[in-house]
Order: sequence, then C-alpha cells, then structure tokens
Amino acid sequence: MAVSDLNPLHDLLDKKLLKECVHCGLCLDYCPTYRVIGHEADSPRGRIYQIRQVYEGKVSAEDPDFREHIYACLDCRACQTACPSGVQYGAIIEAARAVAEPINPSEKTVGRAILGSVFTRPRLLDAAGVGLRVYQRSGMQQLLRKSHALELLPKRLREMESMLAPAQGGIRRHPAPHVTPARGTVRYRLGFIEGCIMPQLFADTNAATVRVLATNGCVVYSPPTQGCCGALQMHTGDRPTAQDLARRNIDAFDGLGLDAIIINAAGCGSTLKEYGHLLADDPRYAERAVAFAQKVKDVSEFLASIELVEPTRPVPMRVTYQDACHLVHGQGIRNQPRQILRQIPGLELVEMQDSDVCCGSAGIYNLTHPDISTRLLEQKMDHLLATGATGVVAPNPGCTMQLAYGARRRGLKLDFFHIVDLLDRSYQ
Ligand code: SF4
Ligand code: SF4
Repeated sequence: MAVSDLNPLHDLLDKKLLKECVHCGLCLDYCPTYRVIGHEADSPRGRIYQIRQVYEGKVSAEDPDFREHIYACLDCRACQTACPSGVQYGAIIEAARAVAEPINPSEKTVGRAILGSVFTRPRLLDAAGVGLRVYQRSGMQQLLRKSHALELLPKRLREMESMLAPAQGGIRRHPAPHVTPARGTVRYRLGFIEGCIMPQLFADTNAATVRVLATNGCVVYSPPTQGCCGALQMHTGDRPTAQDLARRNIDAFDGLGLDAIIINAAGCGSTLKEYGHLLADDPRYAERAVAFAQKVKDVSEFLASIELVEPTRPVPMRVTYQDACHLVHGQGIRNQPRQILRQIPGLELVEMQDSDVCCGSAGIYNLTHPDISTRLLEQKMDHLLATGATGVVAPNPGCTMQLAYGARRRGLKLDFFHIVDLLDRSYQ
C-alpha cells in the first residue's frame, strides 16, 4: 500500500485547497508571525508548502520542524483576507493540526488536557469559574500579588495568573434565562450561545447581549444543554473533541424554529459557522450541522442587518475598536461593529492603526508562545495609546483579556467593552 493511502491528511483536506496557493507571496506582509520571525517557514506560503509536503508523503507529520511551524501560526487568517487567489488557509491549517501533535509541552498539556476535560464538562467548568471568582473577590489575588508569593510558582503558572482578567458579575454564575421574552412586538426568534469563557468571566456582557436582543423585539432561547463550541479544541488540533461539542450544541438548539443563532464571541462564531465542514463525514449530523451553521450570526452582524431600535441615551466616551481576527478575517465582519458603535450618541470612535492585526491572544497562543505573543501585544499597545482613547471595544473575550493584560503591564487605566455593553448602556 502506498504511503499516501495511510495519510490521515487525505481524509481531512482536499488537495485542491493546497493547489490554490500560487506562491505569489502577497500574503507575507500581512502575516504577524512572518513579520516578527522573518522566516519563510513561518509565513502562510511557507506553511502551505510544508503541509503539501506532508500531504504528498514527502515529510512526516511527526517531523519536529513541521510541528513547530504549524503551531507557531496564530490561525489569525489575515493571510486569507489578503490572498487574491482565495486560499482557504483556515481549513488548511486546522486539518494540518489535526494530524500533527503540538511540539510545545504546555500546548499539549493545556490544549489537550484542560481544554479536553474541563471545557467539555460544564459542571467542572463552573467549579473552576467559582474558584477563580472567589480568588479574585476575596482579596486573595491582590494579597498574593502584593506579597510577591506568586513568584514561587513555576514561570508558566505565573504567566497564566498575570493574564487573568477580573471576572464580571458575582461569585455565583447567573446563566441566561432559558427563554427571554421580546420587548414589544416579536420580530425574531433567536438562539443564544452563551459560550464557555463568556459566562465565567464576562457574565455582564452576556446579560447585556440578551437585553439588547430583547429590546430589539427578539425572543431569546438559551437552552441549558448547550456548551463550549469547540473552537479552542480545533485550534489545538483536537478535532474529535470539537466534533463531540458540535454535536451537543446542534442537539441543544434542535427543533426551536429559530431565525438565527447568536454568538457574541468572534472565535466561537467562526467555529460555529464551520460545523458543516467539521461534521461533513458524520451521516447522522452532516445535514443538521450545515443547517445549524447557516443560522449562526455574530451579534453585531445580526444587529446591523435589522432595523435597530434607536439608542438614545448618550455614552460620552472616546473609544477605539480592535478587530478580532476571527471576526474580520474568519467571518469577513469589519463594518458592522463600527456601524453600531457610530449610532450610539456621544460615543466617539477613533480608528487604531493596524486594528485588524492580531493582538497575540489567539486562543491559548499567549500561553504557548509567550515571546511572539508579547511582541505583538506591545505593538498593539503602542497603536492603541496613539488613539488617545480611554475605552477599548473588542468583540472577543480573548482579545479583551490580552489587551487588558497589556494595559496592566504598562500601568494604564483603560476601560474594556464589548459592542453590546455600550449599546445596552445607551438603551437603559
Ligand atoms: S496564500 Fe495566497 S497570497 Fe499567499 S502565497 Fe499563496 S496564493 Fe499568494
Ligand atoms: S493565520 Fe495568521 S499567523 Fe498564520 S500564516 Fe496566516 S497570517 Fe500568518
């Protein structure tokens, strides 16, 4: 049997996708890792070339060099936006990661163990969330940080602790109601995906999302059987876990007769929209996955597509907007968040240079590749400061946490928001 017949990449990737790359190099300047590392093997073109070598059986997926370059990618998809040939880089890199193990031990342990166990078990995730909020609210975090006791922790754990964003809400988690009625006439029936990180750390933003939708005449369903979308597992190459999570979400929203399924986290939205592709080989779920994915909309995408109830209360503030990679490059959503922000009276939106360049968060990239991540974050903070904004709007929890971490590193006092936080303020 030929080597290629045993090649698992053949089951996950159509060679046509690899052939679409004509090696023009027009994507190179847009690639953050190429800009930082300056090495062809860490560019989109270089990575596609290496994946093709593995596809053709010329290089093993276990090759350490291959694994290193594949996992040094942010999966930010800036190359996908820049590519004139329409190369679907996201599909290519995620297929490659599904056949290649991370080379970095922390990526293996964090990615495959924590994401595959805690994030797949809602009760365990809730318990971790409560522990985190008690740690922050009880003053223990402040005490440990001041006493320098955290310096006794291993470096990686210390880094993880320093990146923790202050959790919104109280100690107890208040999930979205199973059904929230529309205010006034019912215009739409929507599903709401709460997510995994969002209800634990950004509970106020989730509550604001539901209120904003209800204000716009939407009945909002949030079934309790839903769970993590599988995005982080996909990015770390754990495709089977991502598939299980996708099936659970499809079952949870089944039969509700929804007009759309809303998500307020860009990274999750990008993966939810790919469920059709993720479950294409599952005869029981393939069709339902396509139907589910077609209904998924980022909250800003949905709100910009309807006649928005006019926000009237002024929110006097100068803010800048960070494009989340998985919104702008993964889903092609660039104008809609700005369109909504510009409708809020009193709010001044100042554009930031390179707002669509990755901030270095990229799932758990800031934990697995802290050096590259920090260099990207520092560039981002320079651009952010140049705007003179006192508030930062980001449509993804990972970006918000990363930018808040960047502000703490520089001792800056900045406020962080999601688009719906500000719209909700203007509605109240
Ligand atoms: S990915 Fe697109 S832009 Fe980059 S080298 Fe290939 S064809 Fe050119
Ligand atoms: S996804 Fe981002 S980091 Fe990866 S090759 Fe494309 S532009 Fe570079």
